[in-house]
Amino acid sequence: MEKRSSPKHQNTSWDIAKAEELYGIHRWSNDYFGLNSRGEVTAKTLNTEVPLLNIIEEMAERDLQMPVLLRIENILDAQLFRLNEAFRKAICEVGYNNHYRGVYPIKVNQQAQVVEEIAAFGARFNHGFEVGSKPEMIAVLATLRDPGSLIICNGYKDAEFVELGLNAIKLGFDCFFVVETPAELPIIIERSRALGVEPMIGVRAKMTSQVSGHWNSTSGDRSVFGLTSTQLIAAVDLLKKENMLHCLQLLHCHLGSQIPNIRDIRSGIVEACRYYTDLVNEGAALTHIDLGGGLAVDYTGAKSNDGQSRNYSLEEYCEDIVDTLKTTFDQYDIAHPTIVTESGRATVAYGSVLLFNILDVTSFEPEKALCASDHEHPQLEKMREIFEYLTPERAQECFNDAHFHRQEIRELFKQGQLDLRNRSIAENLFLEILQRIAAMLDDMKRIPADLEGLKVSLSDIYYGNFSLFQSLPDIWAIDQLFPIIPVHRLNEEPDRQAVLADITCDCDGKIDRFIDPWEGSAQTLPLHSLKKNEEYYLGVFLIGAYQETLGDLHNLFGDTNVVSVRLNSDGTYDFVKEIHGDTIADVLSYVEYQPKEMYLQFRNTAEQAVKEGRITARERQNMMKTFNASMQGYTYYEK
Ligand SMILES: *Cc1c(COP(=O)(O)O)cnc(C)c1O
Repeated sequence: MEKRSSPKHQNTSWDIAKAEELYGIHRWSNDYFGLNSRGEVTAKTLNTEVPLLNIIEEMAERDLQMPVLLRIENILDAQLFRLNEAFRKAICEVGYNNHYRGVYPIKVNQQAQVVEEIAAFGARFNHGFEVGSKPEMIAVLATLRDPGSLIICNGYKDAEFVELGLNAIKLGFDCFFVVETPAELPIIIERSRALGVEPMIGVRAKMTSQVSGHWNSTSGDRSVFGLTSTQLIAAVDLLKKENMLHCLQLLHCHLGSQIPNIRDIRSGIVEACRYYTDLVNEGAALTHIDLGGGLAVDYTGAKSNDGQSRNYSLEEYCEDIVDTLKTTFDQYDIAHPTIVTESGRATVAYGSVLLFNILDVTSFEPEKALCASDHEHPQLEKMREIFEYLTPERAQECFNDAHFHRQEIRELFKQGQLDLRNRSIAENLFLEILQRIAAMLDDMKRIPADLEGLKVSLSDIYYGNFSLFQSLPDIWAIDQLFPIIPVHRLNEEPDRQAVLADITCDCDGKIDRFIDPWEGSAQTLPLHSLKKNEEYYLGVFLIGAYQETLGDLHNLFGDTNVVSVRLNSDGTYDFVKEIHGDTIADVLSYVEYQPKEMYLQFRNTAEQAVKEGRITARERQNMMKTFNASMQGYTYYEK
């Protein structure tokens, strides 16, 4: 059945409540975005609301062109606050005898602005960091100031990585080496002896609890991560032999990312508790249980166990963890350890929005102006006859006939028996017939299978000023859904259905799956007709996690401009940071061009043209200016 016979097609008058329902803002926004009475999407925190459109207008005055990645610092702060607060409350309510220490995994968004903000705001909760490589370790050592915070080192660690961590311990940080492979342990033992520092050691257990969602291969027998039970025992025995079993203080378990089903989390924790208990029984001095990431973001707002959603709230997540830990450990008579989680996605997703303008639209409306010419080809008459029997009952037949006659006409054109003008008339008649059939679908009780995709095939293509590959790689790579909506004009009823194309002109650079509050996903997005001389802005929301450094330089579109704002409680806001995106010279140098030499080479070409009299010296100079200005300019479409 045709999927879009939703309330939005009802002929009642449009208002803000309908816009809210259509785009489901309250479902996915976690209260960080809203809609004001003028139909503008707002960023919300601290009891204030700021229309994104105002921020966009101020960006333009600062020469920060679209596309722009907007970061709202308060949202990042608020997420950190909510996470720590929810664990604190759950611990209090459940009567758990230890505390929570969060760490932020740098890989989820490594941008200095984000990491610095987490370090600054997170200090009040001793919020630490998880690192998986030497560069990430160095970033943390240079950022973290509060020695009460944890540093958790995952990933394969060589001697240098270990030495960096041992130095952190000397400086007073609780820096854990999580052993992921048996080969790491001898390096840690050797380096710590050489430097005379007691290491803090964790072991990562290979989890066998099955988890649904996209990242389920993180757990299970074939998972590439963690130590098997045999390897865990070998690690214990080695540490015992080296008189270092008291250094084994942390158990690490990571079930995967974006875990949609709370039941999977619970059963994973029960398995983790078993590992923990038996390691304690083996003589390890465990004090910390690290449950990794996995806290999901409800991208679709469906509150379901679908992979792009989650069937639990933050509060339930925390309560379930604390409650399961307490119940299980009490049963085994084990002292409650410090709870560590490594929430990345849920911490940073909400704080970033990609804003872009629409450059152009292709619609599949027939051109009415093209009427019969004097020498119309007889084949066109067959197409016109279809209008005479076009009724809902015969819609399928008309649809078939229109396709048949169009094919005939295209063949005649190929053979030189029908001219371009006649073909153009025929193509428009064809579109007219299909549009009329599409308009009948809403009132039809049963829609023939062939016609199900008709509306989608007639939808508009809106060309957006952004690169999917650079800014939204997960849409391309793993069919991730993000909320995408116009950030203004929501007091007007959207009158078009569209798919989005980016400016790479690559057939993969399109977005044709959207969140639908009724159906889960939809193939088109309701949008407004463009107005003359007025920009139309869309926002892609919840993109703070995993998008920024996975992006690539497809077609050499570079990093976008980035603006960080902070909202104040009086409704004003500050532009706290701004970074101009890559220039053309920047992206060319990434692929090993040398902009200075390119300039000289172009100069030589132009000078040669002067010499040969094809251009004047003055023209040459103007060309050089244009060349230079382009080199220093933005890679995206500029107005
Ligand atoms: C990726 C990763 C995380 C982050 O997971 P989220 O689901 O984004 O919170 C945490 N810990 C480890 C070990 C990871 O690999």
